[in-house]
Amino acid sequence: MATTHKTRMLIIGSGPGGLSAAIYGARAGMQPIVVQGLQPGGQLTITTDVENYPGFREVIQGPWLMQEMEAQAVHVGTRMMYDVITSVDLKGPVFTAVGDSGDVYEGDTLVIATGAQAQWLGVPGEQELSGKGVSACATCDGFFYRGKMVVVIGGGNTAVEEALYLTNHSDEVTLIHRRDSLRAEKILQDRLFANPKIKVVWNKRVERFMEGENGDLRALALIDTQTGEQSEILTDGAFVAIGHAPATELFKGKLPMDETGYLLVEPGTPKTEIPGVFACGDVMDHTYRQAITAAGTGCMAALDAERYLAHRDFAEAAKVEA
Ligand code: FAD
Ligand code: NAP
Repeated sequence: MATTHKTRMLIIGSGPGGLSAAIYGARAGMQPIVVQGLQPGGQLTITTDVENYPGFREVIQGPWLMQEMEAQAVHVGTRMMYDVITSVDLKGPVFTAVGDSGDVYEGDTLVIATGAQAQWLGVPGEQELSGKGVSACATCDGFFYRGKMVVVIGGGNTAVEEALYLTNHSDEVTLIHRRDSLRAEKILQDRLFANPKIKVVWNKRVERFMEGENGDLRALALIDTQTGEQSEILTDGAFVAIGHAPATELFKGKLPMDETGYLLVEPGTPKTEIPGVFACGDVMDHTYRQAITAAGTGCMAALDAERYLAHRDFAEAAKVEA
């Protein structure tokens, strides 16, 4: 039978953003509920080595980090729900979300932490070699390719930034783009073309990621988008950088978004245009998209939710007294 769960802070999403909001919210006595979604723990559960999350001298594993974050959130009083939200009502003053299970979640405040997913090419070998040479995050994985050959696929700002970033680790970076001109901003293009460590391969589509004898990525099979000619490029690492899709389908028509679907917040805050509704992590951040920035904005969302409730409770108490 469907149940209604009530809380002072409802959090949708269990990545670093949602769980950090939960840790702060629970410690502030808001007894948060986290609805975990299809990917409990978020994007870091699909990676292996994490070397840039502060506090750990040695390499840690993404899934382990997220298990620890969840355990910490539960330890301080968060209730975790294995459910996927299928609709929301943001009219307030109580915000309602309905789960796939049929359960209803009611929050005096709502924190949206549904993240963003890297878009993939969807060609053979890509998912099989993910973590074995294929990645969607140069900041996360570039370090593992020190002194090796790497390629970046894409022609937008992300691809160009990833290629430039990778030159910190590698002297042989190749950008592969399906057309003969880049979509990236001119200033980034200028930096790219001026960098002697980067070569651009135009008009090529990746047909397949090819495995080496050791089980890691060895090469990419390419096809020329103009002539149809087939070729191969040897590489140790391939970074797919063809865009990210924020998980904001639920909020279409309910909250303002930019043209790429990221939730808009008041600059420098996690506040959406609806008082009491906050957004944190990748769902409102197409620039940084890191675990630490998601955790940071999750913390901000909880602090602002607490202030919102304190202000609201004070105003209601004053009304009763009057
Ligand atoms: P996410 O981690 O994307 O989590 C979103 C959550 O929302 C998930 O739990 C999902 O189940 C839930 N959700 C979505 N829709 C619904 C719904 N309808 N109902 C309920 N729940 C829902 N960053 C680093 O700092 N260091 C790294 O080394 C690093 N490596 C990475 C490696 C890979 C392969 C990838 C893909 C990313 C990596 N990142 C890394 C980036 C980092 O993972 C993200 O920046 C971070 O996870 C964003 O956190 P988030 O909480 O905003 O969202
Ligand atoms: P994007 O601008 O949408 O660019 C995606 C790129 O990937 C395009 O060049 C596209 O090719 C290519 N692509 C898409 N699907 C492909 C496929 N199936 N096969 C091969 N190539 C494919 O995405 P983004 O670069 O991630 O940027 C997203 C948004 O964030 C943009 O608004 C961007 O300006 C912003 N951003 C800004 C900064 C910054 O300001 N520094 C940094 C990063 C991102 P085509 O060009 O042929 O379509």
